[in-house]
Amino acid sequence: MTAIPDTGPHQNRHLVTEIPGPRSRALMARKEAAIARGVGTTMPVFAARAAGGVVEDVDGNVLIDLGSGIAVTTVGASAPRVIDAVEQQVREFTHTCFMVTPYEGYVAVAERLNRLAPGTHEKRSVLFNSGAEAVENAVKIARAATGRSAVVAFDHAYHGRTNLTMALTAKAMPYKHGFGPFAPEVYRAPLSYPFRDGPDVDGEEAARRAIDVIDKQVGSDNLAALIIEPIQGEGGFIVPAPGFLPALQQWCRSRGVVLIADEVQTGFARTGAMFASEHEGVVPDVLVSAKGIADGLPLAAVTGRAEIMDAAHAGGLGGTYGGNPLACAAALATIDTITEDGLIQRARDIEALALPRLSRMRDADPRIGDVRGRGAMLAVELVDPTTAAPDPELARAVASAAHAQGVIVLVCGTHGNVLRFLPPLTISDELLHEAFDVLSAAFADLRS
Ligand SMILES: *Cc1c(COP(=O)(O)O)cnc(C)c1O
Repeated sequence: MTAIPDTGPHQNRHLVTEIPGPRSRALMARKEAAIARGVGTTMPVFAARAAGGVVEDVDGNVLIDLGSGIAVTTVGASAPRVIDAVEQQVREFTHTCFMVTPYEGYVAVAERLNRLAPGTHEKRSVLFNSGAEAVENAVKIARAATGRSAVVAFDHAYHGRTNLTMALTAKAMPYKHGFGPFAPEVYRAPLSYPFRDGPDVDGEEAARRAIDVIDKQVGSDNLAALIIEPIQGEGGFIVPAPGFLPALQQWCRSRGVVLIADEVQTGFARTGAMFASEHEGVVPDVLVSAKGIADGLPLAAVTGRAEIMDAAHAGGLGGTYGGNPLACAAALATIDTITEDGLIQRARDIEALALPRLSRMRDADPRIGDVRGRGAMLAVELVDPTTAAPDPELARAVASAAHAQGVIVLVCGTHGNVLRFLPPLTISDELLHEAFDVLSAAFADLRS
């Protein structure tokens, strides 16, 4: 298992003030006076240090981390190999711009991604700064490769907050509300959502349903790309029924439509595979990665079939900071950490520990309608026990109670009624059990 930096916080939950403590409250007051209110925070708690499975705040409270900064610090914040690689790189040079005088780190990251992404075909990669920027570029590339303009995204999708990615994202509040008009030629298809679809709609039936909408309302001759998260992130950790993704892949291939897997949240060992597409043997034409790629340094990538990726003309792709040398050094160290420390297996072990616990919680509490996810990307969907209507108030209340007890937990879902668990893969079993004990107690306290 990965070593935790010796200088990092103790790997124990430890509360020395109420949450938030006085230093965090003072910083929140400065935040409110200095920062646009559009930037929200899950917790009013300011971080001082983080490593392994914990975040230490500025008041000295040590919190159990079930968020990883939204699936980013998968190898643990400040992972030792990342510290060394970034320290060395920062002394050599911080930036030259890859489009001016290129450097090896960028090439090495692209080579690693081309090997790691599903499929044995020849691939190319290009690097960017954020998931949204990479998604935008994946669409540019698909349009250049097909000469078509339409793009299909799915219900509950989240692809980012830039103009084109707002159009791809499903949820209006808070992501799109008041920010239109949005990019044209974006269409939406129904997802496979087993908990809501019920047992009668299997993956293939759900795919037929989606393809029928696309055929009738878009037409495959107009369609450049279909973009999908193999497990939806912000939209509610929805795992499509088996067969859904392979059927979409087959349809895309038969119609010359580029299948883009948005693996920004699911990538880099998070789900117990390097990429979540692998669970069903799906080979996307283009794969978008970010979040877990570089242990928190800003980096994102588009990796795909050479003939598709090379369709964009020279000079058509890039950006001042894309593939920054510090971020590339961090990415190489992150990938080494995943492979050398067996973190894909660790994600599966976390699933094996957490899923039975969450299932027992569901069996004892009808407000937990569904337990789902893969690896260390797990969630519970909270509902009204009689109507199965989404219960966002309960999700908020459980999350707040957990926060007050020193457990960082995030809410997601189109209806805001899903508690999601994204621990760093370096978290100990003890901390995981303790966090679920806190959550169980919160559910019990909130029983009406
Ligand atoms: C977070 C996320 C994005 C956007 O990434 P940013 O780096 O925040 O721009 C896109 N797609 C998915 C699936 C995500 O989870």
